[in-house]
Amino acid sequence: MPILFLLISFFWTIPTPPELPTGIQRLQKAYPEFIVKADANSITMKDGTVFSYDDGKKNKSFQELLDQPDLEDQFRYDYPAKFPGKDGLPVNHDPGRIRFMPFYMKMYGNTQEEVRANLREIVWLPKTIGSKILVTKVNGVDKKLEAISAELDKLPGLKQYLENPGGSFLWRVIKGTNRLSMHSFGMTIDINVKYSHYWQWDCKCTNEDAKLGYKNSIPKQVVEVFEKHGFIWGGKWYHYDSMHFEYRPEFL
Ligand SMILES: [Zn+2]
Repeated sequence: MPILFLLISFFWTIPTPPELPTGIQRLQKAYPEFIVKADANSITMKDGTVFSYDDGKKNKSFQELLDQPDLEDQFRYDYPAKFPGKDGLPVNHDPGRIRFMPFYMKMYGNTQEEVRANLREIVWLPKTIGSKILVTKVNGVDKKLEAISAELDKLPGLKQYLENPGGSFLWRVIKGTNRLSMHSFGMTIDINVKYSHYWQWDCKCTNEDAKLGYKNSIPKQVVEVFEKHGFIWGGKWYHYDSMHFEYRPEFL
């Protein structure tokens, strides 16, 4: 019995690790290849870089959330499961638009050259459209977009929304800002601009506090296929961008 007693007393004294914040758990689940370690307020990337989770700054304005977010701020708004109705989303409800860029640059590339080294050309809807697009191989995004493409290729009546894709890879800043666009990483695709709505076109402005009226004509079917493979949709943002799909499995 003494051995059993020793074992019991040994395990009894091991403290259970503190529960990790939900956001850290989501990031770990979404990017298992890159995040090797986490504790209550940081994640460690496979190259040894440590990113803290919460910078401790409270009461950031919406503009500050966009310009100086931490990883925690990214999860300020939940990504809705429901397809938006005609009223769209509550003011500033932009899940995925708040981005802690050093984390994404670490995975996809810090410079245009680094991103380019990971790009691969895929054929978009090979049976019905056949456009060529450049996408990243990082996180298997190329394979995921091929799966999306194959599924959309089989669905009837969607070609008009998907042909002439507005762009996948382009190293650039977001118009009216100093922030790098997620199109810079090759994990984001704009579908046909012709059937899309973008808040800046409608308000003819770039200021975040503009009062917006929601608009969308992209069918739910298209969105569901992208979401199934880890892509969020810009049509589920108050600052809507209905052509825009971005690989952010931490939200799904
Ligand atoms: Zn876009």
